Amino acid sequence: MKTKFLTILSASMLLYSCGEKKEQKIEETILEEPTQKTEEKTEEVVSTDGKEVSLTIEANDQMKFNKSEFKVKEGQKVTLTLKNVGKMDKTSMGHNWVLLKEGTDVADFANKSMSAQDKDYIGDESKVIAHTKMTGGGETVSVTFDAPKKGSYDFICSFPGHYAQMKGKLIVE
Ligand code: ZN
Repeated sequence: MKTKFLTILSASMLLYSCGEKKEQKIEETILEEPTQKTEEKTEEVVSTDGKEVSLTIEANDQMKFNKSEFKVKEGQKVTLTLKNVGKMDKTSMGHNWVLLKEGTDVADFANKSMSAQDKDYIGDESKVIAHTKMTGGGETVSVTFDAPKKGSYDFICSFPGHYAQMKGKLIVE
């Protein structure tokens, strides 16, 4: 009888502690920076005639883009806006957005770009469909290009050491 009572007691204590843990977790989520909540979101904003599309991506001091995938349609005129929401200088935490041709070896392109400081860290222009200029914290830049043929295209930030974390896909449908 005594054992049974103890079992019930410990079970309810366990329940109680679980409930407490859950509450703490909710609090932590609320405390997170609002910019992190939009992470990994896919964006598709199409104008009324469907011929043009505007995309926005943010880059921050934590060496992160807030999106990892975009979907556009073949032949659309795409305007990509890069907002560098960081505070750091572009010599230490620069960000750009570089869309690479299909089949490009991303690591190879990034490695060649590392030493191309005089060319805004674009090592091999022949592998690039479109790119913005390099930005520092607080800067916003745009680039407009025609969506290439259907396929999956890599985009990266080509600042030295950033591409492993700052990358994603532009899907053309
Ligand atoms: Zn970067």
